[in-house]
Amino acid sequence: MKCVVKAAAGSGHLALVNRPVPEPGAHEVLIKVHALAICGTDVHIAEWSQFASDRMKPPMIIGHEFSGEVAAKGALVTQLAIGDTVSAETHIVCHTCEACRRNDFHVCSHTETIGLSRDGALAEYIVIPAENAIRFNKTLSWETLSLMEPYIAAVHAATAFPAAGNSAAVIGCGPIGAMAVGVLKQCGAANVIVVEPNEARLKKGGEMGADHLVNPVGIDLARAIRTVNEDRPVDVVFDFSGNVDAIEQSLSYIRPGGRLSVLGLSDHLLKLRLDRFVYNGLTLQGIAGRRLYGDWETGRGLLRAGLRLDPIITHVLPMENYQKGINLMKTGQCCKCVLKIE
Ligand code: NAD
Ligand code: ZN
Repeated sequence: MKCVVKAAAGSGHLALVNRPVPEPGAHEVLIKVHALAICGTDVHIAEWSQFASDRMKPPMIIGHEFSGEVAAKGALVTQLAIGDTVSAETHIVCHTCEACRRNDFHVCSHTETIGLSRDGALAEYIVIPAENAIRFNKTLSWETLSLMEPYIAAVHAATAFPAAGNSAAVIGCGPIGAMAVGVLKQCGAANVIVVEPNEARLKKGGEMGADHLVNPVGIDLARAIRTVNEDRPVDVVFDFSGNVDAIEQSLSYIRPGGRLSVLGLSDHLLKLRLDRFVYNGLTLQGIAGRRLYGDWETGRGLLRAGLRLDPIITHVLPMENYQKGINLMKTGQCCKCVLKIE
């Protein structure tokens, strides 16, 4: 089968190669991959950032946001049939650690990650545990179904606190922030304000249903937010930027008793003025991956209720053009770039 591997440590070293089709074990499924969305993690792997070099041992097939159909299954797999349409949860958890035993599977201490710590899905076929293959009705395109993994992370973040009737600021409108805007509107948020310095991405927030778009560069952000929120601070803040200064600044426009959900990642220190944080009774929630598997069911339900994700896909390319797709994601000149795998 054709697949794209990270052949060696260091920047670059990606290659389209041929490998044998893997065989599923007793509890596993073989999936014929139809579409793969490129993630920021794939850019990290291509450039060999510290994040990637700490986690990946080449050679390894890259890619983890995908859709496809079940092509073969192990003898003990009963919940899936050949031909089923699936997307996948990319975190494979141990079911035995303290976190797993407390049903906090999303923070399992022994998480294996598809396309990072084991072979990924930028390939014609992939084998994964049957548990991780999530079945969908074939009402959505393969491209849209390849967005499920980051979409469900957006669902996790955006449903961490009630949206109905509340005003929300969304910091950072990359693919995950933009999908969260759709989730918040679908959940009945009263006013969704997107804060994003990249004008094209800000516009994408509008396409996903945001009520107000604010470019934070060179303005008094707290004032701008109050202006578009009936002269009030916001009830909830959702971060998808990983920019610690922006998160810190959000304390100037969140209401007392407000809540902050943070999915964006950074290795920088987050400095919060403790007296403001404490006296305002704020809540800070870190969002790791997706709650297994409740967030998947919530996300499925929101799609059924009418949430549309197609504006997120700005580019569709053949698998062979993977490098072009990675470059597009790297420069932020797109929202989501999807590779078709025939
Ligand atoms: P992305 O990098 O495409 O989007 C981040 C956006 O934040 C960009 O559009 C950028 O212009 C914007 N931004 C930067 N500084 C800003 C500021 N000061 N104010 C407002 N916006 C600002 O990333 P993505 O793929 O959408 O993912 C979002 C974040 O989530 C990233 O940090 C990513 O590493 C992280 N992530 C976390 C998890 C998790 O499990 N917690 C999973 C996947 C991704
Ligand atoms: Zn575990």
